[in-house]
Amino acid sequence: MADAGYDYDLFVIGAGSGGVRAARIAAQSGARVAIAEEYRIGGTCVIRGCVPKKFMVYASDYGRKLQEARDYGWKIESDGFDFERFMSNMHAEVDRLSGIYLRNLANAGVDVFEERAELSDANTVVLKESGKTFSVDKVLIATGGTPWRPSPEELPGVEHTMSSNEVFQLDELPKHIVIAGGGYIACEFAHIFAGLGVETCLVYRGDTVLNGFDWDVRTAVHEGLKEAGIRVITSAVFEEIQEVEGEACPYCVKLSNGMELNADKILMAVGRRAATDGLGCDAAGVKLAENGSIIVDDASRTSVPNIFAVGDVTDRIQLTPVAIREGHAFADTIYNDKVWSFEHDNVASAVFTQPEVGTVGMSEAEARKAFKNVDIYKTRFRPMKTMLLDDPERVMIKLVVNADDDRVVGVHIVSPDAGEMIQMIGVAVKMGATKAQFDATCAVHPTIAEEIVTLRQKWVPDTEPA
Ligand code: NDP
Repeated sequence: MADAGYDYDLFVIGAGSGGVRAARIAAQSGARVAIAEEYRIGGTCVIRGCVPKKFMVYASDYGRKLQEARDYGWKIESDGFDFERFMSNMHAEVDRLSGIYLRNLANAGVDVFEERAELSDANTVVLKESGKTFSVDKVLIATGGTPWRPSPEELPGVEHTMSSNEVFQLDELPKHIVIAGGGYIACEFAHIFAGLGVETCLVYRGDTVLNGFDWDVRTAVHEGLKEAGIRVITSAVFEEIQEVEGEACPYCVKLSNGMELNADKILMAVGRRAATDGLGCDAAGVKLAENGSIIVDDASRTSVPNIFAVGDVTDRIQLTPVAIREGHAFADTIYNDKVWSFEHDNVASAVFTQPEVGTVGMSEAEARKAFKNVDIYKTRFRPMKTMLLDDPERVMIKLVVNADDDRVVGVHIVSPDAGEMIQMIGVAVKMGATKAQFDATCAVHPTIAEEIVTLRQKWVPDTEPA
């Protein structure tokens, strides 16, 4: 354990997913631990990310389900969507979860400071409101990320836009929203707002959304956005945002291609940056990458031996479960004599578009770079449920196989419940399962997921249906 001369053995800056897990595990081992949070306990995931976003996805999807139920014979009358009621219920749940995080920390014996903390040197943490100063043996930086927006010089009128943080604080639903970006957040919120009846326009600088994902996922999601009634404008960026006098849509967004779009809300979803501004990394000697993220080794150790960092602030993989594992590995290694580090390969993830994306392992393009011979198995079809519906929705399932050792190195799904499916199939991919083992697994019928184990025909480019 640490030198008793320090106020704390471990000071964690940031009470999000990674920081809370690390603080709890370290404290349970007997270490004297403190944690500081400048906004709300729970961090981005619980307060203004994954959790409230998923509730918004559910809310949005109910509109579609009502219509589907009618097609299945239910007589349903609807008075429309009560946004205020939904937001109030959602915030009550977020408050409850934040309270649980706080209680868990307290039960583990962690001292919690609900104010901003900064480093003044490698062993000193200063609390910005109270001015309290603590000497600390080790520091864990888990401050996460923050939405990035261009400066007013780069985008005049940017002050009229909101980020994903503000979406969760809206008092009423917008009527016309314009969204910038083509990544996770832009695509998820485009579907959420469109599903809630908001006229939605997405502006993306590339030609097909979800850059970095498998090509078949990208094209399926791109088509799905349009099928959901979202206006998708590609190869364009915002050039200026002007206020319009006396209009129902008070803003006019001017695009680089000359188009002009009217909106009452504008969402910038053009990426997130590590939250290291003003943290005192310089003073402590912690080295940052060019994009402001903290450089760490496999053990999450920074350039300063007693300072560690986990989660989005390190810009490895920006996902809650990854931050939790990194935080847990750090605390086990340092305080529990259990040395391990998180492996960043084959991390399954979901994009909560409608339908969802589930993905694990390599895209086809990545596999073709890594291996000499790659086999592709894929299918695109209308799921059984939609046969009774006036709904063109199709699902996509794709397996990427290293043909030389038969291992399935990537699975990509665009389908209702793809997030649930990929969690399961992620186990097999992580274990290094072969295509023969997928084939030997008996199907569950009738399901969408059965296609994962019944795909027999190798895809040959020439035979792809038009
Ligand atoms: P992403 O990195 O996913 O997407 C950013 C988007 O903005 C890209 O389409 C990018 O274009 C575009 N962009 C970047 N800079 C500019 C610019 N200057 N002008 C115009 N467009 C620009 O970021 P998000 O903010 O959507 O999400 C951040 C991270 O949070 C994700 O990477 C993910 O790890 C995590 N997240 C995970 C979720 C989940 O698990 N379901 C949900 C939400 C977030 P281009 O593609 O050309 O680079």
